[in-house]
Amino acid sequence: MLGCSSEEALRKIPVLGLGTWKASPGEVTKAVKVAIDAGYRHFDCAYLYHNESEVGAGIHSKIKEGVVRREDLFVVSKLWCTSHKKSLVKTACIKSLKALRLDYLDLYLMHWPMGFKAGEEDLPLDRSGMVIPSDTDFLDTWEAMEELVLTGLVKAIGVSNFNHEQLERLLSRPGLRLRPVTNQIECHPYLTQKNLIRFCQSKDVPVTAYRPLGGSSEGVNLMDEPVIRRIAEKHKKSPAQILIRFQIQRDVIVIPKSVNPKRIQENIQVFDFELTEQDMDDIFSLDRNLRLATFPTAKNHNDYPFHIEY
Ligand code: NDP
Repeated sequence: MLGCSSEEALRKIPVLGLGTWKASPGEVTKAVKVAIDAGYRHFDCAYLYHNESEVGAGIHSKIKEGVVRREDLFVVSKLWCTSHKKSLVKTACIKSLKALRLDYLDLYLMHWPMGFKAGEEDLPLDRSGMVIPSDTDFLDTWEAMEELVLTGLVKAIGVSNFNHEQLERLLSRPGLRLRPVTNQIECHPYLTQKNLIRFCQSKDVPVTAYRPLGGSSEGVNLMDEPVIRRIAEKHKKSPAQILIRFQIQRDVIVIPKSVNPKRIQENIQVFDFELTEQDMDDIFSLDRNLRLATFPTAKNHNDYPFHIEY
């Protein structure tokens, strides 16, 4: 079988990356440039974020300045659900590559295991406001993604928002040519994902934590959580730095988003301290199985990933 082992993938995927969801086109070019200057080398992008050309402008400008070379960077994009049909996968990938102004992606993820009706709309909805599925199977989509690696458009492929049954189904697919080099999932102290992470790691599939700071969801403020604040004060670090370090210490890749220069710099200052075993246990004890990215309009989809425990 081709592809990276978990160890190789972990070595290749920088453990900390910059998230770019909701990073508005007006802000994200500067954010990427600040991040590269601060030492970030991993950028988490997606077609769905509709800002890949601005991310690409930031990357391009730093390559042109001679600050980094393309090969120093690890750029990730994601195949959106409306392009799961095998015949659409390559075109979708090329669209992201063009927007990012890159010849290849380091990693291309299947954004969700669910395929949606193809077309211009990102979220095709029926009259009752629920997503219209496609008749695709994510195993076939994966086969088309494997082709992208074989033709050199992407270096590696992975998945996102897969539950353990979906991942198992993919891994045991007869004729699988490439294994996923990550499963990117929501993960933070209110949703520690112990079971899914244990499962992924036991299958040699590294995990990437999205929404590690709890995002900007109303009513949830992980950074005000007393346990996190106490640990932050003890280490003379910020709550965000504790949340990021928590993932790194459990061998999980982490991609906090910020467009604020001060916070971009702050979020990478996480390699000069260590959480104790007690700190880690205290953070794990905050778990309340609170999923923030529930994608309610997709709940009726056959491949909706969150109907089972993990
Ligand atoms: P995060 O948990 O990264 O939180 C981002 C929010 O935290 C923003 O409001 C940001 O504001 C703020 N913030 C960042 N740093 C700090 C800090 N040091 N102190 C205080 N506030 C801070 O949420 P995301 O949902 O953005 O997740 C991260 C990334 O994961 C996304 O950007 C995206 O790339 C990826 N993702 C993937 C998904 C998938 O389905 N595969 C789903 C969701 C996210 P500001 O920018 O103003 O600093």
